[in-house]
Amino acid sequence: MSGQLEAADGRRPRRVILKISGEGFCQAGERGIAMDAVVHLAEQTRRAAETGAQIAVVMGGGNILRGAQFTSGNSAIHEATAHYMGMLATVMNGLALQDALESLGCDTRLMTAIRMEGVAETYIRRRARRHLEKGRIILLAAGTGSPFVTTDTAAAQRALELEADVLLKATRVDGVFSDDPEKNPHAVLYGELTYDDVLRQNLRVMDPEAIAKCMEYKMPIMVFNFKKEGNIEKAVRGDRVGTLVIPKKTEA
Ligand code: UDP
Repeated sequence: MSGQLEAADGRRPRRVILKISGEGFCQAGERGIAMDAVVHLAEQTRRAAETGAQIAVVMGGGNILRGAQFTSGNSAIHEATAHYMGMLATVMNGLALQDALESLGCDTRLMTAIRMEGVAETYIRRRARRHLEKGRIILLAAGTGSPFVTTDTAAAQRALELEADVLLKATRVDGVFSDDPEKNPHAVLYGELTYDDVLRQNLRVMDPEAIAKCMEYKMPIMVFNFKKEGNIEKAVRGDRVGTLVIPKKTEA
């Protein structure tokens, strides 16, 4: 690895949580796992790791299954079971991304919040930190290990416990908009927002639980477009490539 990107306080290399939703693992509007989408993610993540930053990826699973799909009262599948199925979906994405990263020469560890011997390491905070310190890209699958939340909450949780400098939320739009930019061409892209703005205006950034957790511990969130070439690397370096969600605005 070249470079040594320092954290804002200069104590250690910059450490980031990169939240990639399931949509990053398939073609737009489709489902399942598309290997070219995974390779694109892997190439961008490798370039980001080459900056010297420590990277923990939290994968979503919506390209395969979300627990909420089974919430109707007459579903034979219990809602909690469906959420566990969703968590397993994130493990499949993790396995795909791990192989893609390793085929590019990256050192990785897949860790799961649900014990799955023979497939991946169990997530243990201290071990995860150790991997990061050794320059391994860690892939954190199975969310929090508990049903009824999403991988956004898992990303916020891991950002706090691994003392990340920022939570990077990769999306397929350029950041946070006043309205859905895919439906409203007049939607305005925000450069900065406070957690309060996001919660009060009900802006689509991450789940409210995840925002509340980040707000409580002042964890900055950067929402950016991972589809644009080089954006993951820029976001990892700390460039403004999307919308920054912080406790207090710095812009006028
Ligand atoms: N999930 C869960 N607990 C967690 C994380 C995820 O129960 O800690 C389930 C939940 O059903 C969720 C699914 O796994 O819908 C897939 O994750 P998510 O919806 O966050 O994926 P994304 O939208 O990021 O692709």
